[in-house]
Amino acid sequence: MLPVVSIVGRPNVGKSTIFNRLIGSRKAIVDDQYGVTRDRHYGESFWNGREFNVIDTGGYLPGATDVVKKGIREQVHIAIRESDLILFVVDTEGGITSLDSSVAKLLREQETPVLLVANKADNEERELNATEFYTLGFDELYPISAISGRGTGDLLDRMVELL
Ligand code: GDP
Ligand code: MG
Repeated sequence: MLPVVSIVGRPNVGKSTIFNRLIGSRKAIVDDQYGVTRDRHYGESFWNGREFNVIDTGGYLPGATDVVKKGIREQVHIAIRESDLILFVVDTEGGITSLDSSVAKLLREQETPVLLVANKADNEERELNATEFYTLGFDELYPISAISGRGTGDLLDRMVELL
Protein backbone atom coordinates (compact mmCIF):
# COMPACT_ATOMS: atom_id res chain seq x y z
CA MET A 1 0.00 0.00 0.00
CA LEU A 2 1.20 3.48 -0.82
CA PRO A 3 1.72 5.98 1.99
CA VAL A 4 -1.14 8.44 2.46
CA VAL A 5 -0.91 12.23 2.69
CA SER A 6 -4.05 14.09 3.77
CA ILE A 7 -4.70 17.77 3.14
CA VAL A 8 -6.74 19.46 5.88
CA GLY A 9 -7.67 23.02 6.81
CA ARG A 10 -10.58 25.42 6.83
CA PRO A 11 -12.51 26.23 3.61
CA ASN A 12 -10.92 28.43 0.94
CA VAL A 13 -7.31 28.17 2.00
CA GLY A 14 -6.46 26.36 -1.26
CA LYS A 15 -6.56 22.66 -0.30
CA SER A 16 -8.07 21.55 -3.61
CA THR A 17 -5.66 23.73 -5.59
CA ILE A 18 -2.75 22.05 -3.78
CA PHE A 19 -4.30 18.62 -4.35
CA ASN A 20 -4.65 19.29 -8.08
CA ARG A 21 -1.06 20.47 -8.28
CA LEU A 22 0.11 17.32 -6.49
CA ILE A 23 -1.81 14.85 -8.64
CA GLY A 24 -1.27 16.80 -11.89
CA SER A 25 -3.09 15.23 -14.81
CA ARG A 26 -3.80 11.99 -12.97
CA LYS A 27 -7.42 11.34 -12.11
CA ALA A 28 -8.99 11.83 -8.68
CA ILE A 29 -11.36 9.24 -7.19
CA VAL A 30 -14.35 10.63 -5.30
CA ASP A 31 -15.40 8.80 -2.16
CA ASP A 32 -18.91 9.57 -0.91
CA GLN A 33 -19.24 7.03 1.89
CA TYR A 34 -18.92 9.57 4.69
CA GLY A 35 -21.87 11.64 5.96
CA VAL A 36 -21.08 15.33 6.18
CA THR A 37 -17.56 14.51 5.12
CA ARG A 38 -18.52 13.33 1.64
CA ASP A 39 -16.53 14.77 -1.20
CA ARG A 40 -13.16 13.31 -0.27
CA HIS A 41 -10.92 13.11 -3.31
CA TYR A 42 -8.16 10.53 -3.64
CA GLY A 43 -5.32 10.77 -6.12
CA GLU A 44 -1.84 9.42 -6.75
CA SER A 45 1.28 11.52 -6.79
CA PHE A 46 5.02 11.01 -6.95
CA TRP A 47 8.19 12.98 -6.36
CA ASN A 48 11.86 11.99 -6.43
CA GLY A 49 10.83 8.46 -7.37
CA ARG A 50 8.53 8.11 -4.36
CA GLU A 51 4.84 7.34 -4.94
CA PHE A 52 2.10 8.26 -2.50
CA ASN A 53 -1.66 8.78 -2.26
CA VAL A 54 -3.09 12.22 -1.58
CA ILE A 55 -6.49 12.91 -0.01
CA ASP A 56 -8.21 16.25 -0.44
CA THR A 57 -10.77 16.93 2.28
CA GLY A 58 -13.71 19.28 1.93
CA GLY A 59 -17.38 19.19 1.22
CA TYR A 60 -18.37 20.89 4.45
CA LEU A 61 -22.00 21.89 4.60
CA PRO A 62 -22.30 25.61 4.06
CA GLY A 63 -23.74 27.68 6.86
CA ALA A 64 -23.04 28.46 10.46
CA THR A 65 -19.46 28.38 11.69
CA ASP A 66 -20.21 25.61 14.18
CA VAL A 67 -21.48 23.35 11.37
CA VAL A 68 -18.34 23.98 9.30
CA LYS A 69 -16.29 23.44 12.42
CA LYS A 70 -17.93 20.06 13.07
CA GLY A 71 -17.25 18.97 9.46
CA ILE A 72 -13.61 20.00 9.69
CA ARG A 73 -13.13 18.25 13.03
CA GLU A 74 -14.54 15.07 11.52
CA GLN A 75 -12.20 15.33 8.51
CA VAL A 76 -9.23 15.94 10.76
CA HIS A 77 -10.05 12.89 12.89
CA ILE A 78 -10.30 10.69 9.79
CA ALA A 79 -7.06 12.17 8.42
CA ILE A 80 -5.27 11.41 11.70
CA ARG A 81 -6.47 7.79 11.56
CA GLU A 82 -5.60 7.04 7.96
CA SER A 83 -2.59 9.23 7.09
CA ASP A 84 1.16 8.86 7.27
CA LEU A 85 1.55 12.61 6.90
CA ILE A 86 -0.83 15.56 7.19
CA LEU A 87 -0.58 18.84 5.32
CA PHE A 88 -2.31 21.47 7.43
CA VAL A 89 -3.09 24.34 5.08
CA VAL A 90 -3.50 27.96 6.17
CA ASP A 91 -3.82 31.15 4.12
CA THR A 92 -1.29 34.01 4.14
CA GLU A 93 -3.91 36.25 2.54
CA GLY A 94 -6.52 35.80 5.26
CA GLY A 95 -4.17 35.24 8.22
CA ILE A 96 -4.92 33.13 11.30
CA THR A 97 -8.59 32.51 12.17
CA SER A 98 -10.22 30.77 15.12
CA LEU A 99 -10.91 27.76 12.87
CA ASP A 100 -7.18 27.51 12.15
CA SER A 101 -6.46 27.56 15.87
CA SER A 102 -8.97 24.80 16.61
CA VAL A 103 -7.61 22.58 13.83
CA ALA A 104 -4.07 23.27 15.12
CA LYS A 105 -5.11 22.14 18.59
CA LEU A 106 -6.48 18.81 17.27
CA LEU A 107 -3.36 18.18 15.21
CA ARG A 108 -0.93 19.00 18.00
CA GLU A 109 -2.62 16.43 20.26
CA GLN A 110 -1.69 13.42 18.10
CA GLU A 111 1.33 11.60 16.67
CA THR A 112 1.00 11.75 12.86
CA PRO A 113 3.61 14.16 11.44
CA VAL A 114 2.22 17.51 10.32
CA LEU A 115 3.67 20.01 7.88
CA LEU A 116 2.12 23.46 8.14
CA VAL A 117 1.58 24.84 4.65
CA ALA A 118 1.08 28.61 4.36
CA ASN A 119 -0.59 28.89 0.97
CA LYS A 120 -1.14 31.96 -1.24
CA ALA A 121 2.44 33.09 -0.56
CA ASP A 122 2.47 34.40 -4.12
CA ASN A 123 5.24 36.93 -3.49
CA GLU A 124 8.04 37.71 -1.07
CA GLU A 125 5.91 39.95 1.15
CA ARG A 126 3.30 37.21 1.67
CA GLU A 127 6.11 34.74 2.27
CA LEU A 128 7.51 36.94 5.06
CA ASN A 129 4.03 37.35 6.58
CA ALA A 130 3.78 33.58 6.78
CA THR A 131 6.02 33.56 9.89
CA GLU A 132 2.94 34.58 11.97
CA PHE A 133 1.75 30.99 11.56
CA TYR A 134 4.56 29.71 13.79
CA THR A 135 2.28 30.77 16.66
CA LEU A 136 0.06 27.77 15.75
CA GLY A 137 2.75 25.59 17.34
CA PHE A 138 4.27 23.51 14.53
CA ASP A 139 7.99 23.16 13.88
CA GLU A 140 7.89 23.02 10.12
CA LEU A 141 6.31 25.78 8.05
CA TYR A 142 6.28 25.82 4.25
CA PRO A 143 5.10 29.00 2.51
CA ILE A 144 3.89 28.07 -0.97
CA SER A 145 1.78 29.38 -3.81
CA ALA A 146 -0.34 26.51 -5.11
CA ILE A 147 -1.29 28.65 -8.10
CA SER A 148 2.23 29.51 -9.28
CA GLY A 149 4.08 26.55 -7.78
CA ARG A 150 6.37 28.81 -5.74
CA GLY A 151 7.83 26.84 -2.81
CA THR A 152 6.16 23.56 -3.74
CA GLY A 153 9.46 21.83 -4.64
CA ASP A 154 10.85 22.34 -1.11
CA LEU A 155 7.57 21.12 0.38
CA LEU A 156 7.56 17.98 -1.78
CA ASP A 157 11.22 17.26 -0.93
CA ARG A 158 10.32 17.30 2.74
CA MET A 159 7.10 15.31 2.24
CA VAL A 160 8.85 12.36 0.60
CA GLU A 161 11.59 12.45 3.25
CA LEU A 162 8.89 11.85 5.87
CA LEU A 163 7.07 9.06 3.96
P1 GDP B 1 -10.26 24.86 -0.52
O1 GDP B 1 -11.64 25.28 -0.14
O2 GDP B 1 -9.35 24.89 0.68
O3 GDP B 1 -10.19 23.57 -1.26
O4 GDP B 1 -9.66 26.01 -1.48
P2 GDP B 1 -9.59 26.06 -3.08
O5 GDP B 1 -8.47 25.21 -3.61
O6 GDP B 1 -10.94 25.79 -3.63
O7 GDP B 1 -9.16 27.57 -3.30
C1 GDP B 1 -9.91 28.65 -2.75
C2 GDP B 1 -9.58 29.91 -3.52
O8 GDP B 1 -8.21 30.28 -3.28
C3 GDP B 1 -9.72 29.77 -5.02
O9 GDP B 1 -10.23 30.96 -5.55
C4 GDP B 1 -8.28 29.55 -5.48
O10 GDP B 1 -8.06 29.95 -6.80
C5 GDP B 1 -7.51 30.43 -4.51
N1 GDP B 1 -6.12 29.98 -4.34
C6 GDP B 1 -5.66 28.72 -4.17
N2 GDP B 1 -4.31 28.71 -4.12
C7 GDP B 1 -3.90 29.99 -4.26
C8 GDP B 1 -2.60 30.61 -4.28
O11 GDP B 1 -1.55 30.00 -4.19
N3 GDP B 1 -2.58 31.98 -4.43
C9 GDP B 1 -3.74 32.70 -4.53
N4 GDP B 1 -3.61 34.02 -4.66
N5 GDP B 1 -4.97 32.14 -4.53
C10 GDP B 1 -5.05 30.81 -4.39
MG1 MG C 1 -11.71 22.17 -1.70
